[in-house]
Amino acid sequence: MKLFNTLTRQKDEFVPLKAGEVKMYSCGPTVYNYFHIGNARPFIMFDLLRRYFEYRGYKVTFVQNFTDIDDKVINKANEEGVDFNTIAERYIKEYYVDAEGLGVGKATFHPRATETMDAIIDIVQRLLDKGHAYIAENGDVYFRTKSDPSYGKLCHQPMEELQAGARISVGEVKEDPMDFAIWKAAKPNEPAWDTPWGSRGRPGWHIECSAMACKYLGETIDIHSGGLDLIFPHHENEIAQSECANGCTFANYWVHNGFLTIDNEKMSKSKGNFFMVRDAAKEFGYETIRMFMLSAHYRSPLNYSAESLEMNKASLARLYESRNNMEFRIEKATGDTMTAEETEKMTQLETYKQKFIDAMDDDMNTADALSAIFELVREINGYMSKHDDATKAFLTKAHGLFMELTGVLNIVQKHDDEVDPEAEKIEALIAERTAAKKAKDFARADQIRDELAQMGITIKDTRQGVQWSRA
Ligand code: AMP
Ligand code: ZN
Repeated sequence: MKLFNTLTRQKDEFVPLKAGEVKMYSCGPTVYNYFHIGNARPFIMFDLLRRYFEYRGYKVTFVQNFTDIDDKVINKANEEGVDFNTIAERYIKEYYVDAEGLGVGKATFHPRATETMDAIIDIVQRLLDKGHAYIAENGDVYFRTKSDPSYGKLCHQPMEELQAGARISVGEVKEDPMDFAIWKAAKPNEPAWDTPWGSRGRPGWHIECSAMACKYLGETIDIHSGGLDLIFPHHENEIAQSECANGCTFANYWVHNGFLTIDNEKMSKSKGNFFMVRDAAKEFGYETIRMFMLSAHYRSPLNYSAESLEMNKASLARLYESRNNMEFRIEKATGDTMTAEETEKMTQLETYKQKFIDAMDDDMNTADALSAIFELVREINGYMSKHDDATKAFLTKAHGLFMELTGVLNIVQKHDDEVDPEAEKIEALIAERTAAKKAKDFARADQIRDELAQMGITIKDTRQGVQWSRA
């Protein structure tokens, strides 16, 4: 598999540290609110990367953190007059609700900053011991950027250029404008932890990821991911901290998703141009949002619009319809061996699986992977409509292939919507209608069709029997 690596600025062949295993870390949400569609992009896409590795037989250890202590969480807690933990607990719970809706699995570990304090304090201490960090007069601990000769390697900017952009503002206690806080001394009424170096306080944002990745995955990991906006300074700083503390490479592959935009501007909380995932889900359904994300390569910008969501909703409905059709036919069909023609057709259908894999192997090109699925579906539909007598063996195999590929993307897997609360009544009416038609009582048959239509049920007469669906 090839992955575009921000570190090398090219698609690199993925070679794991240990054969057959992948260690991945992805920056997770700061839990002070529900997450928006822009945040959903890395959650969906990097969970998918993990799913795909698993599909290809790798054992994946995947870590995605919760930033549960920072200014935003504290401010929100103060606004509501509650403890910061109440806020964090609430939005972690809500994260899982949306993630599950979007088909995003749980990571192997979801560490929280406040529960990783030992590892955080340990790495800060080691940076202090090695002279890569210093305690400022106000008790903050800063990373000494000048002590790291490779600083800037991820964002590909030499130190001098980065420095030109940084300014020390009045009252700052840093040695150098490029230095950044890895530990913040406690302010009155803020949550704080004791430290061996003496200043009670809380961790900076960058250090928590360095500490968690090391604690759960080891000093060197395979893949580190996050949104494009995190390259600088967040990921640059993570590299500096981890590599200076541990004396070895932090991550071999740095993978970044492009922005989700709205009117071609980055969707963000600070700009106010965002949609919460759950609000969009109310309108279009969670799975449509997932389909929308998959419709574009993860590194391309992706613009959010109602039309685009509607289009993806329709595409998803086409896949569901095709799957339901296959399942209906399987139930009615007979024959446990494929005919010669079916065997040949199956060989052709299998080529779409290879197309799917080739697309995913090429830097996880989900847009092309979806195209392969749609081509497969077109072939299956065409064959089924021309072959009323297709065997159960063939239909089952075609269905299995479809479910395998859509299963990797985690779409079209739901069946609960088919457990219709009125299913029994509907089936009974259909049986009555079939009997009426047989007895040439067409008036009664039409009456039943109208009755079903009023219930929102459309029926289709096929050679294999009557198929119904909710409009
Ligand atoms: P945050 O909670 O703001 O730290 O963001 C969590 C994740 O969402 C990070 O990986 C961000 O890079 C990512 N992210 C935030 N906004 C967008 C956006 N508009 N498009 C894509 N990714 C985003
Ligand atoms: Zn991070």
